[in-house]
Amino acid sequence: MRYLSTRGQAPPRDFEGVLLAGLAEDGGLFVPEAWPELSAGEWRALRGLPYAELAARLIHRFTGNTLSLEALRAMAEGAYGGFGHPAVAPLVQLDHRRFVLELFHGPTLAFKDMALQLLGRLFDQVLERRGERITIVGATSGDTGSAAIEACRDRAAVDIVILHPLGRTSEVQRRQMTTVLSPNVRNIAIEGDFDTCQDLVKAMFNDAPFRAEMRLAAVNSINWARIAAQIPYYAAAALALGAPDRPVAFSVPTGNFGNVLAAWAVRRMGLPVARLIVGSNRNDILARFLAANDMSARPVEPSLSPSMDIQVSSNFERLLFELLGRDGAATAAAMRRFRAEGRMPVPDAAWREATALFRGFTLDDEGTLAEIRRLWERAGYLADPHTAIGTAAARALAPEDPAIPVVAAATAHPAKFPEAVERATGRRPPLPPRLADLYEREERFEVLPPDLGRIETAVRSHARRNRAA
Ligand SMILES: *Cc1c(COP(=O)(O)O)cnc(C)c1O
Repeated sequence: MRYLSTRGQAPPRDFEGVLLAGLAEDGGLFVPEAWPELSAGEWRALRGLPYAELAARLIHRFTGNTLSLEALRAMAEGAYGGFGHPAVAPLVQLDHRRFVLELFHGPTLAFKDMALQLLGRLFDQVLERRGERITIVGATSGDTGSAAIEACRDRAAVDIVILHPLGRTSEVQRRQMTTVLSPNVRNIAIEGDFDTCQDLVKAMFNDAPFRAEMRLAAVNSINWARIAAQIPYYAAAALALGAPDRPVAFSVPTGNFGNVLAAWAVRRMGLPVARLIVGSNRNDILARFLAANDMSARPVEPSLSPSMDIQVSSNFERLLFELLGRDGAATAAAMRRFRAEGRMPVPDAAWREATALFRGFTLDDEGTLAEIRRLWERAGYLADPHTAIGTAAARALAPEDPAIPVVAAATAHPAKFPEAVERATGRRPPLPPRLADLYEREERFEVLPPDLGRIETAVRSHARRNRAA
């Protein structure tokens, strides 16, 4: 299995190369040269498997010979064995045709764990074989940092340093990062805001000698392996509801378009997905695109669903490449115009093709609180604000055929956003038992001023100590 860049100018790579590179050299995103397709019989044969086994078999279709099925099976069992639910990604029924697919039973209570728990193990496996180490650096305003730390903790070939803005994350978010005391994990609180942290990380990547010395890497959402690891839960849900012999629809609260792209991929691989509903908060660029071919960025506004406060959905480039008939030059030109002018020209035919499958849905904060309240009152279900946008979208835009079930992705545990849930329902969702002692655990982090030299020194000493060990 080889991978091409969406911008057509980078050399093809295998799965291992794509995993380690992240972004292609021409600035594009990697996509499979040919999508694996399964026959209806092959899909039926996957029904009823334990989640880790299903994940290993499907991801193996994307790795080619770089990883054996046995190795993937062991990694998937390690990744998903510690989840808080034996089904890993359980389906919960809300009404006669709507379900939620709970993707938040991982260590940090958000759907990022579904991919990152596997990604950490993939890095380890590939790097150990090559006798290499990497240093992951990242900036976080809250959630992605903890998911990355949980993915990398105790990995033999990976060091990780996460910068967060001092005093500007919630206490749960900070503690999910700073109570991980593994020797390969270091947390630095920066005296500044999130943008300062992000600028410092960019500056480290732009410091070429430092970047090479530390083998700096990122675990951002454009890495193909993250998409591959998100495909199995859509397949599991569809198979459980009768696919390939019965179509399903998915509703996905969307930010960077990674999660919904994985739902698109199971359709491309042969499962009958009748509709994909893209949920947005007031940052509604995708809804405007789907309604009126208006892909124009506006300033990001804060909302109750912060993980969707995004105006440029980086993974959309992968869909665009497909909509443009896999024309790398045309994709590169559209992305250049988007960057330069803040508006992406999408040809009418490509837009029409997108709207045949995708629907866009927007919900403001007030509507989000109303939906959380409604779910609680009607179904006794506590949903976080991201999930609520998905369930509201599933109700508003279900396919006309009532025999098609609609599955909404539940992307965060309600205890991750307790203020909003309490405001809507009067109930404060408790942390699950395995995290109940989070507030008593020992924390470890250091505080540094936004000084690139001092932060590089801290990263270097952290990586060097572990290299010597
Ligand atoms: C990251 C995230 C999203 C958005 O997912 P994308 O793949 O970026 O579209 C939605 N909800 C939660 C809780 C998240 O953490």
